[in-house]
Amino acid sequence: VSRLKVTLIAIGSELLSGQVLDTNSAFLARELTALGFRTIRIAVIDDIQSQMVDEIRTALCDSDLVLTTGGLGPTSDDCTRHAVAEAASLELSTSEDAVARLTAHAERRGRPLNKASFRQALFPRGAEILINTVGTADAFITDILSRNSVKVPVVSLPGPPRELTHVFAEQVSPRLQTRFSIRTAATLCFRCFGLSESHVGSVVDTLTLPESVRVAYRPHFPELLITLSLNPADAEHTDGANYLEQAFSMIAAGIGPEFIFTRDANQHLADALAALLRERGLRLATAESCTGGLLAHKLVSSPGASDYFLASIVSYSNSAKEVFLGVKPSLLEAVGAVSEETARAMAYGVKNRIGADIAVSITGVAGPDGGSEEKPVGTVWIGIAMGQEVIANRYHLPFERNAMRLYASALALDLVRRKILGHPLTWETK
Ligand code: ATP
Ligand code: MG
Repeated sequence: VSRLKVTLIAIGSELLSGQVLDTNSAFLARELTALGFRTIRIAVIDDIQSQMVDEIRTALCDSDLVLTTGGLGPTSDDCTRHAVAEAASLELSTSEDAVARLTAHAERRGRPLNKASFRQALFPRGAEILINTVGTADAFITDILSRNSVKVPVVSLPGPPRELTHVFAEQVSPRLQTRFSIRTAATLCFRCFGLSESHVGSVVDTLTLPESVRVAYRPHFPELLITLSLNPADAEHTDGANYLEQAFSMIAAGIGPEFIFTRDANQHLADALAALLRERGLRLATAESCTGGLLAHKLVSSPGASDYFLASIVSYSNSAKEVFLGVKPSLLEAVGAVSEETARAMAYGVKNRIGADIAVSITGVAGPDGGSEEKPVGTVWIGIAMGQEVIANRYHLPFERNAMRLYASALALDLVRRKILGHPLTWETK
């Protein structure tokens, strides 16, 4: 099957000056690939109307679909709508509905509608308007005749990534699926932590999975996302979903099911732990040294975190460990801050002082300086206190400073998850 071809056009001078990374195109390319399209070109261009027109015309020669991002704002450098109209040889016309929405939006903010905003109510005549519910710039689809007289949809999306992803998921993806008669092939995703991609790959290679299942690995440091999908030829097979389930069970048994923390492609470790803490009605507190609050940052990223997260003490110095966590000066003197005893005392201290059900502590040498022969850079102790029990594990994390902090935070989240679920708290590094 020849796949439908797509050109992406990212518009904005900030993308060319290196101030902003073009994450919009990466997002769209991923989504479109998952829908079965093939992205044949990604163009990044300046906010110059004539360049946009040229780029759109070039795309119309060899693409079944064109998407533009950016340049839909109210200022005079935002001229994507003008460029699309010119490429389509259409007039721009004002949408009264869009004017009404913009007016209502301005009123809610207690301001009169700015004259420049009227620009955002202009669309190429006949274009389908896709309402943007998270911003003011509506998206639109303009059908433009290519040289061989095929109607090619040109989709124009707002630049702010949050708006783009929202409008794409809500409005564009369903329309593309209808228009191009796409049936989304079944997939099964899961995420694991604590195993390398190569280890999981070598385990999978020893298994005899159902023939029509393909396995794709995508590292999201420090997590690993694995997607099982059906070969396109088998995508419509009535047993497809069963094949995926079978393959999943075999892989889970092969790598150890406790390494898999979710079957939701978009759920990170912190989200998975949040769901677990909420389900069990447990409240967590943390004591952080080398991660400097990164663990707390991860824990409060999900809405409603106050249901399960009580506090994090960022006790970077020895004196902070003494004052806020009750770690004894004599202990710190005797064994040092990066030690089993200190990790345990930190977890114990924060649990009792805050009144949490479970607590986790992190203390380590993030580097690049400060290592010793006994405690080289990358040494981390993580402590867990739950009920009457307090334990600590030692790790060596051979990463650069910030990657090490990220990994240590993930380890702490994973140990709490394992503790609650009764999984082993130690494992061989693979
Ligand atoms: P606005 O109404 O905010 O002006 P717009 O549709 O005109 O929206 P731009 O002005 O091009 O969009 O960009 C708005 C914001 O989105 C900027 O902060 C820009 O850095 C960001 N942005 C634009 N294009 C991209 C892209 N391709 N990848 C990532 N961020 C982008
Ligand atoms: Mg703009």
